[in-house]
Amino acid sequence: RAGARMVWGMSPKLRRELDGIPTYKPGRPPAVEEGVTAYKLSSNENPYAPLPGVLEAATAAAENFNRYPDMACTALHAELAHRFGVPEEHIATGTGSVGVAQQLLQSTAGPGDEVIYAWRSFEAYPIITQITGAASVRVPLDAGETHDLDAMAAAITDRTRLIFVCNPNNPTGTVVRREALERFLDRVPPDVLVVLDEAYKEFIRDPEVPDGVEVYRDRPNVAVLRTFSKAYGLAGLRVGFAIAHEPVAAALRKTAVPFGVSQLAQDAAVASLRAEAALLERVDALVGERTRVFDRLTAQGWTVPETHANFVWLRLGERTTDFAAACERAGVTVRPFAGEGVRITVGEEAANDVLIRTAEAFRKEL
Ligand code: PMP
Repeated sequence: RAGARMVWGMSPKLRRELDGIPTYKPGRPPAVEEGVTAYKLSSNENPYAPLPGVLEAATAAAENFNRYPDMACTALHAELAHRFGVPEEHIATGTGSVGVAQQLLQSTAGPGDEVIYAWRSFEAYPIITQITGAASVRVPLDAGETHDLDAMAAAITDRTRLIFVCNPNNPTGTVVRREALERFLDRVPPDVLVVLDEAYKEFIRDPEVPDGVEVYRDRPNVAVLRTFSKAYGLAGLRVGFAIAHEPVAAALRKTAVPFGVSQLAQDAAVASLRAEAALLERVDALVGERTRVFDRLTAQGWTVPETHANFVWLRLGERTTDFAAACERAGVTVRPFAGEGVRITVGEEAANDVLIRTAEAFRKEL
């Protein structure tokens, strides 16, 4: 056999599962043109800067950058356990909630297994599923852009290992309500893990939408996924968490990347939980803006699914790319899903104003 050196055209054997996997595409930052204020409404981020207390915690953490972080996330887990009234052992943190979702898959699924989720939903689901070698079973959203839970239950087979329920759903903003979810969970075999992805939980105002933390208490096969990236405004620090019973929580501790959550992220997350009242006021303001954007778009004649998150979904079909380009020219970057629609984050008032004006002009040209 030839040695590895200088054998051109040869490369290491990579897993075949990777062939069909698209690289995750982040929301683009706005292209800044002279004289135009640019706004990024493409990644469902929080437009507010971190609170002073959070920045102080972050600055203090910087003094120990030469040290590894607390791998057990002791302070953060204690704070979360207190906040949610759950045992500390039921909490597992990771590198963003997408990191925790990946760990949940690594803990449950492999080649020959199946993972069910609605489609369209969070773009990372197919990627992180395929990496494990498991097959994705995508169940189309119903006509109202909502999870079709009956069809999802019907899709369960002996090979199903994990089911994602994204509540509210990214990118449509739609929700699954309590009764429907409980009925669905009653149909799921106890050896199949259901992940309630509640990345946008804090933006929900409908009392009929269940709190996953209440749902999980009586159901050992339910894991709740939450994040500090959205309502808490720490997207750049990459910290998310799951609440789940043993042995799922134990599996998450095993599949964690060692030291995957930096001390900076841990300390800022703790400070955010302590500053929760101020942060939730900001969420209220964003929910107010969401209502304004929704009402204005609806008044313009757009059909917008009722949204419970910090974004709205416009099903534009063939006109998706044109709409995204029009927004870009006006200074707002949105997230187009070619041929399907556009997801628009609710941002600061000025950004939303530009979006509303652009949508109106686009509509008139239709
Ligand atoms: N779940 C859903 C539904 C999301 O939309 C996102 C972010 N786009 C995530 C999880 C991941 O967020 P993070 O990794 O920042 O916690």
